[in-house]
Amino acid sequence: MGTAAEQHGGRIASVRPASVVDGVYDNIYERLMSLEIPPGARIPIDVIARDLGVSQTPVREALSRLEREGLVRKAHLIGYSAAPQLTRKQFDDLYTFRLLLEPEGARLAALNMTPVALRMLEEAAADMGRGELPVDRTSRYSRFARADAHFHDEILKIAGNEVIRSTLFNQHVHLHIFRLMFHSRVTQEALEEHESLLAAFRAGDAEAAESAMRTHISRSRDRLLAAFE
Ligand SMILES: [Zn+2]
Repeated sequence: MGTAAEQHGGRIASVRPASVVDGVYDNIYERLMSLEIPPGARIPIDVIARDLGVSQTPVREALSRLEREGLVRKAHLIGYSAAPQLTRKQFDDLYTFRLLLEPEGARLAALNMTPVALRMLEEAAADMGRGELPVDRTSRYSRFARADAHFHDEILKIAGNEVIRSTLFNQHVHLHIFRLMFHSRVTQEALEEHESLLAAFRAGDAEAAESAMRTHISRSRDRLLAAFE
């Protein structure tokens, strides 16, 4: 515990409700992503509030935000619990879905690319590689998950097809996938694949961008499949 308070420079106890909710959200999010709160486990509001030294209101707000993202579930009379892990079927379905939409998104993004948009993407990609020190593997990993989600979403924003972007965004693909497994090689290989995607964008090559995205998502699927073995 204490992670959220440290990350927020101890602001938790001192400032406005919104940042208290953010701190509580980050704390529960990290613990869900790292499986410290295992899939299916109950999340008692009073215990979390006591552990974090906050009232129950921000805990409720944070949990309802996590519920909208599909990371926790709320059941009548039982309360909140961590969402179950993806099944193999759900995983396959998600990747089929990504493979349909994201290569096309990358192709459109290459066609719409501007120097400003490219610089933004490069920064988003660099953010992922940076992994500030000192961080334990778990928080490095969940930060990577968020940064990766951001990178993919930026590409779809540039692509300019709001239907594709919002459809994917609403699946919260990354949150669920990154809960599957913690492998440092996942992050390293993904960074290299992002790099070839960026190279295609720099060259303004729409076909290369489409194919780099297809490769990235197929490889990401293959790496994560190990979680089901
Ligand atoms: Zn990626």
